[in-house]
This record gives sequence, structure tokens and C-alpha cells, in this order.
Amino acid sequence: MPDLPDLVPLDEAQARVLDGVTALPSEVVDLADASGLVLAAPVHSALTVPSWINSAMDGFAVRGADIAAASAGSPVVLRVLGEVAAGRPPEAGVAQGTAIRIMTGAMLPDGADTVVPVEDTDAPAGASDIPATVAVFAAVRPGDHVRLPGSDVEAGAYLMGTGRACDAAAIALLAATGHASVSVHRRPRVAVISTGDELVPPGLPLGPGQIHDSNSLTLAAQATEAGAEVRRLGIARDSLADLLALLREAVAWGDVVVLSGGVSVGAHDHVKAAFDTLGDLALWRVAIKPGRPFAFARATVDGRSVRLFGLPGNPVSVFVTFELFVRPVLRRLAGHARAYDRPERIVRLAEPMRGSSGRQTISRVVLVADPDRPDGLLARSSGGQDSYMLASLAAANGMVFIPPDTDLPAGAAVVAWELRGRED
Ligand code: AMP
Ligand code: MG
Repeated sequence: MPDLPDLVPLDEAQARVLDGVTALPSEVVDLADASGLVLAAPVHSALTVPSWINSAMDGFAVRGADIAAASAGSPVVLRVLGEVAAGRPPEAGVAQGTAIRIMTGAMLPDGADTVVPVEDTDAPAGASDIPATVAVFAAVRPGDHVRLPGSDVEAGAYLMGTGRACDAAAIALLAATGHASVSVHRRPRVAVISTGDELVPPGLPLGPGQIHDSNSLTLAAQATEAGAEVRRLGIARDSLADLLALLREAVAWGDVVVLSGGVSVGAHDHVKAAFDTLGDLALWRVAIKPGRPFAFARATVDGRSVRLFGLPGNPVSVFVTFELFVRPVLRRLAGHARAYDRPERIVRLAEPMRGSSGRQTISRVVLVADPDRPDGLLARSSGGQDSYMLASLAAANGMVFIPPDTDLPAGAAVVAWELRGRED
């Protein structure tokens, strides 16, 4: 038996991996490239929005007082002076007894204080000819259907703070308030390496004993989903020299290096030795199933701090350990306030689940609404739980944490992470 260190509990291993991780330096990027990046400084509005009074409806700009008595039975007829379309200044003002046809977002002409929607007039909606007169069938109060300057945002107003991710709504607000670029934390760079003599890239034929390299694609997808820029550096053969060559390339570029396979105690497992050569091996056995062999090291390369993860080879272990250890680090590097973002819920088991001796078991499950508890969720196994079984991984929308040395009956409450949207 090789001399094995003690198993490190999951929460302690997570804390060690996150220790000292801070947001990457900031840079200014075009708003068009900011999707998913995290603000590195608070942002204030450069404009008053709306900047000028404009119409909220297609209709007629009028003086509210002129049509105060209008109704379907006794319409008020106004003379139409012209039209104001979006993007052009009004050519005339509205005087007593007159109206100007107006489009949504167009500037309200002088003299007008409200807009009659086209539906409340005799003007056909969508007609191109401007009518000479318009009959108004309903009174509209002054101020209705108009958008006042600053009613959305005042110039100089605080919009959002450091740590806010540039999602679609944030980008919409920034663009509308006069920003063309924004200061964000740099996107984390993740280099991905697979190890193993048996691996063949997907799409190539398999010889005896060979399998497709799925892990590098899994990890690239997970890192991309976590907001990172990813490079797949290929497959290292089971030799220390081959592994070191690829790892040197990886640490020269990446903030994080994620490698799978070769981390165990097998005769051809060189990851721990390679990590020890390049950095300080900090951790390598965690009390979880799947994912017990797990290497973590830190290296300093050209003054940059690089974190190296050696994940187990089994594809499910890869997926699970990325979720538990790598995703939180990427989020922290990216500048998110919360490292752990997967929705955590207490759910009930739909069926008994077995724990493992001395380790937390992380089972892939399908989470569905619990018919017996409003807002509650039920977890049932998504299929075979062996760490090579990808069909049940793809079927799962969550995972549950079974405490060590515990067999749980149906109905027991457990902690779950939701991994993607539910479809029930
Ligand atoms: P190892 O930790 O290198 O002994 O690998 C454990 C198991 O994971 C073995 O069955 C490997 O064939 C498998 N494995 C390792 N790397 C990959 C990979 N990149 N894609 C798919 N399976 C892998
Ligand atoms: Mg291997």
C-alpha cells in the first residue's frame, strides 16, 4: 500500500482551493463584448433618459384641455397640422383645436401635453396619408402617454455597482445611458488538458482499448458556461515528460489549468509529480464520492498566480469536481461576489439512497416539483451512479449530497444543487 494522506472533508477542501483567490485585473471593453463579464467599478448614467419629452403611443399629440369632453357619443374633431416621426424634430407646435400625428418615441411638439392613442380616434391605424382632421372619441388627461425627461434615469445617477455581471438587462441600461465601453474584470483563462494513452479525439476511429476523450470537451463547456476563455491543449500521453510539456504551455497562458486523469495512485499516474515540479501541490485526496483523487496546486509564472486542478479521469468525477471546486474559483476570478452560485435547496428523496463509508456521496438526480409540498422538490436518481456513466449525468438536473456513513430512506431531507433549469 502506498502511504496515503488523510481524506480532507469537502468543505475544507473547497476553502483551501478558494483561499487567496481574488478578481483578475480590470480592463475596459466594448459594451458589445461585455456579455457575462463583471463590473470592476460602479457605473453612473452619462445621460438623462429619456433626454426629452416623447410619446409612449402611436396617436395624436394634442392639448388635453381641447378633448376633455370627448366621448364615443360626442367626439371632438381637431385639425391635423402634420406629423412627427421618431428621430426628427417636430416642424410645428400644437395650437388650440389642432393635433399633430405622432409615433412612439417621437418628440412631443410644443403646445401638446398629452397623446391620444390612434385606437381612440377615427384615424385608421397604420395609414400612411396624414388625415386633414381627426375625431377623438375619448378624453385623455394631460401627461398621459407621454414619457418625461429623466423619468427612467437622471444624468449622474448610480446605475450599478462593482460585482454586477453584465447580463442583457445591464447591457441595455448601459447602452441607453451613454456608455459604449465599460470597466470589467478580465475573463479568466482556462487551459484544459486530458491525460491518457487510451484517449482518441471524438470523430476518430477507436482501436482496441481506446475511448474518446470526452473530458476535455466537458471541461471546456463547463468553463465556458462559467464565463471563462478556454483553450484545449490536447491529450498528454502517460509520461511525465509529455505531461510537463503540455503543462508548461498551459501555465504560460492560463489563470487556471484543468487536467483530467492520471491523478490516482496507478503506475501511469504522473499528475501529482508534474504539479510538484511546477508548483506546490496543496491537496490531493478529498472525502467525496465520486472524486476522491483530486490534485490541486498553485504556481507562480512570470509573477502571475496560476491554479492547477488535477481532476480524476472518470467523466462523472470530472463533471462533479469541476462544479465543486473549479467553477467557484472561476467565478471569484471573474469578480462575482458569490463564488458558489448554484441554487442550493433542501429537497426530499423520492427513493432510498445509500451513502459511502467516510465520504460524502454526490448523486446525480432529477429534481421535480413535490406534489405533497408547495414549493418543495423531490429528488430521484437520474440512473446508474457509477462514475463512468454519462447517460445518467446528462439526464440529471441536479445533484444531492448524502452525508458519510449514512443510508437515507425515501422522504429524507438532503441538500441539493440545481444544475440547470427544471422542465416539469
Ligand atoms: P485515470 O484516472 O487516468 O486512471 O482514469 C480513470 C478512468 O477515466 C479511466 O477509465 C480512463 O479511461 C477514464 N478517462 C480518463 N481520461 C478521460 C477522458 N479524457 N475522457 C474520457 N474518459 C477518460
Ligand atoms: Mg489515465
